[in-house]
Amino acid sequence: MNLIQEMMTRGHERVCVHHDPESGLRAIIAVHSTALGNALGGTRRWHYDSDDAALLDVLRLSRGMTYKAACAGLDMGGAKSVILLDSPRAPFTEAQARAMGRFVNSFNGDYIAAEDVGVNEQFVDWMATETNHVMGGTGEGQGGDPSPHTALGVFRGMQACLRHLGMDQFTGLTVALQGVGSVGAHLARLLHEHGAELVVADIHESAVQEMVEQWGARTVGTDEIIATECDILAPCALGAVIGQSNIDSIKARIICGAANNQLVDHDHDAAALQDRGILYGPDFIVNAGGLIHLAGLYLGLTPEELLAKIDDIESTTLNVFQLASEHGSTAHAAIALAEARIAGGRSREETHAG
Ligand code: NAD
Repeated sequence: MNLIQEMMTRGHERVCVHHDPESGLRAIIAVHSTALGNALGGTRRWHYDSDDAALLDVLRLSRGMTYKAACAGLDMGGAKSVILLDSPRAPFTEAQARAMGRFVNSFNGDYIAAEDVGVNEQFVDWMATETNHVMGGTGEGQGGDPSPHTALGVFRGMQACLRHLGMDQFTGLTVALQGVGSVGAHLARLLHEHGAELVVADIHESAVQEMVEQWGARTVGTDEIIATECDILAPCALGAVIGQSNIDSIKARIICGAANNQLVDHDHDAAALQDRGILYGPDFIVNAGGLIHLAGLYLGLTPEELLAKIDDIESTTLNVFQLASEHGSTAHAAIALAEARIAGGRSREETHAG
């Protein structure tokens, strides 16, 4: 990969690679934009097929964070970090977390880390022993696990989807959840409480079993969930799950879930979903609840203001649906909305500087 070219194409400000020989940490921090403020984004621990795959992931994810913060109306930029694991289930250590904390600290607050896949509150607490620039730990004002807030935001996004299609309740509807980990499990509870029937799939049998016992969910195989008979499909596992190979098989009228970068090929897949009449709730709009919670706390918002901002995901999603005809698809409309807000932030900065 030609990194500098990729950064220029995607608009990144800074990408740093770090190796800590003592703990064995290998990590990348990508700051996409600080146009609207300091950049908060999770730290993902993952075993990648290649270093290029890790770079591509962190470049894509960090740009998504800029868009997410902008559309959520936060004075925040976008960034993300990844820790490259030697093997798929490599356990984390305090030494690795602390080394990551020191790496984060070297950004002097331009980057604020939080949890993502493979990182939990314990890991964040260990990072916090080395830097003040983390959120999502168990300490005072740290916000804890963002997953319940992300789930609430996705639920608000689904409500917007229903309203857009002239419906107002979940009773009688079936929602298929791909992945019932931290966010998926909270979302399943909300949906069950609002009368939805659930179909779930997860590579972890125990997670599936919990949904069956708690909410009477039906289960299907992980290779069947995308094409399962349902009203709403909620991807809540990993990204790049909706693409050319399966769009024609989707039976849902709505796709709305927590996973980042759900579309394999953004332009092609967004248009293909539009052509098939499937309403897509853009991922970075509907999964912003966790970011709103952590960034909002960092920015000093009150609990009431935080909740109101998460509830606003419903009106932002509806706004994006209204803009879709102008931009060709809901996914393109979401990017247009984000870019307009970022450009607004930049011109405000220039006016102040002038
Ligand atoms: P998680 O790791 O707790 O849960 C993911 C679940 O997906 C796990 O139970 C895992 O076993 C399952 N899974 C993995 N591969 C699968 C497959 N092929 N088929 C079915 N299930 C599979 O992660 P999470 O925190 O719940 O996040 C879920 C997604 O939402 C991720 O893509 C994450 O980046 C995104 N997201 C999370 C948050 C948050 O607040 N946690 C915020 C925004 C976006």
